[in-house]
Amino acid sequence: MSAMQSFSASSWLDHGWAGHAKALLTISLCLCTGLMQGQSSAAVDEARIIAADSDPGSWLTHARTYGEERYSPLAEIDTDNVSQLGLAWYFDTNTIRGLEASPLLIDGVIYTTAAWSHVYALDARTGSLIWHFDPQVPKAWGAKACCDVVNRGVAAWGERLFIGTIDGRLIALDRDSGVVIWEKLTIDPERPYTITGAPRVIKGKVMIGNGGAEYGVRGYLSAYAVEDGALLWRFFTVPGDPSKPFESEAMQMAAVTWHGGRWWEVGGGGTVWDSMAYDPDLDLLYFGVGNGSPWNRTIRSPGGGDNLFLSSIVAVRPDTGEYVWHYQTTPGDSWDFTATQHIILVDLQIDGRKRKVLLQAPKNGFFYVIDRSSGELLSAEKYTRVNWASHVDLKSGRPVETEQADHSQTSRMTQPMQIGGHNWQPMAFSKDTGLVYIPSMENTGNFSTALNFEYLPGHWNTGQASGDAESTATLSPALLAALEKTLMLGRLIAWHPVEQREVWRVEHSGMWNGGVLTTAGNLVFQGTGDGRLVAYRADSGEMLWESATGTGVIAPPISYQVDGDQYIAVMAGWGGALPLVLNQTSSIRGRNGRLLVYKLGARKQLPESAPPFALPIAPERRGTPESIALGGALYGLHCARCHGIGAVSGGILSDLRYMQPQTRELFNEIVVGGLLNDKGMIGFADVLSETDATAIQDYLSDLSLALVEYESSPGWWRAMQAWFYEQAALVASLFL
Ligand code: CA
Repeated sequence: MSAMQSFSASSWLDHGWAGHAKALLTISLCLCTGLMQGQSSAAVDEARIIAADSDPGSWLTHARTYGEERYSPLAEIDTDNVSQLGLAWYFDTNTIRGLEASPLLIDGVIYTTAAWSHVYALDARTGSLIWHFDPQVPKAWGAKACCDVVNRGVAAWGERLFIGTIDGRLIALDRDSGVVIWEKLTIDPERPYTITGAPRVIKGKVMIGNGGAEYGVRGYLSAYAVEDGALLWRFFTVPGDPSKPFESEAMQMAAVTWHGGRWWEVGGGGTVWDSMAYDPDLDLLYFGVGNGSPWNRTIRSPGGGDNLFLSSIVAVRPDTGEYVWHYQTTPGDSWDFTATQHIILVDLQIDGRKRKVLLQAPKNGFFYVIDRSSGELLSAEKYTRVNWASHVDLKSGRPVETEQADHSQTSRMTQPMQIGGHNWQPMAFSKDTGLVYIPSMENTGNFSTALNFEYLPGHWNTGQASGDAESTATLSPALLAALEKTLMLGRLIAWHPVEQREVWRVEHSGMWNGGVLTTAGNLVFQGTGDGRLVAYRADSGEMLWESATGTGVIAPPISYQVDGDQYIAVMAGWGGALPLVLNQTSSIRGRNGRLLVYKLGARKQLPESAPPFALPIAPERRGTPESIALGGALYGLHCARCHGIGAVSGGILSDLRYMQPQTRELFNEIVVGGLLNDKGMIGFADVLSETDATAIQDYLSDLSLALVEYESSPGWWRAMQAWFYEQAALVASLFL
């Protein structure tokens, strides 16, 4: 640490530029030497981030560059020697919640984040802890997080780091010590906002959005000054209360695309919860906008309309937040088809012309190539199974919806489902192969419309009538496992963005897998839900190496170089949106999340994993068929999104089939009374009565008994049941 602290770039920045040319030259030399040795801590600024390719050993911003390619120019690890890759060190984060962070590597130090917005600074050679910052998020706030209390990383600027916390704060930390410099609340704490995304810093402004559209919020992106956290501008993505003045011309433009309803009460949605990219030449900041609150336009804007800027990519001026252009991937979105997925900026030869393009594979199943200077759609093709639209009309830039898209009157089996053809897990673009590597999914979901929708402030407000967790809660875990195995497919695909076609694919055992890294060694790295980190040839998809990670991986790997050694680093921690809700087929549950770091020739071993779950302690049989059914419906509505459909937990939160006898006795005090509020299990007194809670416990006891019975039955019987359900699911899939 002393070596790192001995050189502070802020001291020379404070002295100014004029008249200090000689000092500047000396310091520049120090900087270069320091960087090569990976010892000195130097300021991160725009010039340094833009020159990322001349400093390939570092990872200074979320996806390494402002263009967010997730391509490492390092080539020490290549197709010939990747088989010798081994674990160099690991760091325990002491959490079983999801890990989604993309670490930064600055001057020999890794900065990463874990669940509950914790931040860690670690020696990149050894993994020894330099400092740890816990923002002390109240655990009850976790109930406002749709998709686990995850965090996708910090941003760096000057001598500071910036973290967005799950309870909506933006905090500036001193990079060397982890000490708080300033802290700003970026949200209305009366609303269920959360921050999971990594900030980006552009021209001395920290850009941060938020999430919460499933519960009911109004989305926006904000810019704060790095120096003191002053709010510089805010871009709202959906119009507010029409009785109040517009905040901007963009809102005036958006307002005419909303008709009827009272969307502003629920919030309208449009949260900016993940993707951003920046083009310094065009001086444009791009960000992706999420789904509506509620999901269904029929409820949100019954008179129809595109509902700008839901499910859009928006380009603004980073200095002012001034609107420049937008492209809406899913006009009038009714399917949770967010356009918050990873955005990549590259230059491609298209029809003999070099075009500055923006690439995105949003949830809706189409891969978009957009001219990023104008917003003009150049091409869009399906990268997975899609049945809600036949194609995207290039003239109008609009999807051509099929009959399957309309669930305003009847429920529909729609592809992709709510989780999307591609979720937040970042893709990667290789400058060498010209291919985009997408952690892609194929799936089918049931959409419907709650005709008597009632807004429950602070709760789940998606506007779905059935087909959501509510109606699937009473299906048997064996049937759900079969559906998951046959209808929810995960794969890594290599996509040619110019020819708009798949070049190769790798099928995974489950749908929910990790983000992607590609390197100049002709390699693609991806972690998997079944607990492996895998390296493939970037040009052919041939698997070259794999290593057990001890838990499912969802985060994207990064690569860095220190003392001449190339490393691959990945946060391994199972969680996020899908495993909270649906995890029937996963064998990896409740394992400690870690940062895993690999290099050539290393041989460190991970400790033994925790043993699998034992059988639950069978409760006494209780409840009537009616109360069990009522409990199932209420469980589906209020509990399943955290504790899992059919009470099969992903190991992230408690599996309620395994409830201890003393918990059973306190059940109503916990569920209604809020006894475990401080631990994150909030009370539901505003929506559940004592009778409701009793019915939920009847349902859970019934599931515990069913599990004990199932696990005690002969193996051949369980295998036959699974086979039967899988065949039924396969037959059902033919009709989708
Ligand atoms: Ca959503």
